[in-house]
Amino acid sequence: MENNLNKIIENAIHYLKFVNDKPNCDIYTDYLKVKEEVVEDKAIDAVYPQKIKEEENILVKEKQTVQRNVNLSLLTESWMEIEKLDELDKAICKCKKCNLGKSRLNFVFGVGNPDADVVLVGEAPGAEEDKQGIPFVGRAGKLLTDILKAINFSRDEVYICNIIKCRPPENRNPLPDEIGKCEPYLLRQLEIIKPKLILSLGTFAAQTLLRTREPLGKMRGKIYDYMVGDQKIKLMVTYHPAALLRNPNWKKPTWEDVQMFRKEYDKEVNN
Ligand code: SF4
Repeated sequence: MENNLNKIIENAIHYLKFVNDKPNCDIYTDYLKVKEEVVEDKAIDAVYPQKIKEEENILVKEKQTVQRNVNLSLLTESWMEIEKLDELDKAICKCKKCNLGKSRLNFVFGVGNPDADVVLVGEAPGAEEDKQGIPFVGRAGKLLTDILKAINFSRDEVYICNIIKCRPPENRNPLPDEIGKCEPYLLRQLEIIKPKLILSLGTFAAQTLLRTREPLGKMRGKIYDYMVGDQKIKLMVTYHPAALLRNPNWKKPTWEDVQMFRKEYDKEVNN
């Protein structure tokens, strides 16, 4: 049992090294709490047997905390160290950490320039994306390509991906558990690409990235600092192209958003 506990702690420390410098990851605050406990009790391996005798109740509580908070399936995976997007894709494309892995037709990693200054992040694959294994295809994808063209970006120049890599059935919103398991992949993609700007598409993507419940109307027109490690990325929010197909009234505000986004891009690359 003691060996198991040591392994859990060792794995937890490894995982914390991965998530600790991601300030956006408040989803991982439980892991950070575990780290505090581990740091407070530096010789934890050595003192546990003694604590078993002396403070059985406290130990049980601590053990439960460690075991509850540490998802072992996340801890020992080599993809966290991968430095190239295509290798990351290969390493995670068979993922079945959540139920979406069972119902998907295809895993949808992302597409575009691996050195892009601009990354577009949507919510999750839809039916057509699931069929093709490529994000933003079909009518919404074509509209996104046209929007990009209107602000002088080609689709190949940017990188396009989603927060969730597998299609939720009936296009329902992803569940917190699915986001928790899948979002680290997006963070690693961003760490590898190192974009200067992110354009978040749609309410769900923006609320997830910014850890807020604000409506999209309140998030538009603002420039957020999104931290990935020690890299500060400018993030802006606009409507999802699929939403524009449903409600053409949102095309005008989207046009304003993407023009502002282009201006920010020009400022960033000329600096
Ligand atoms: S949605 Fe993400 S976490 Fe779930 S199975 Fe697909 S890749 Fe894995």
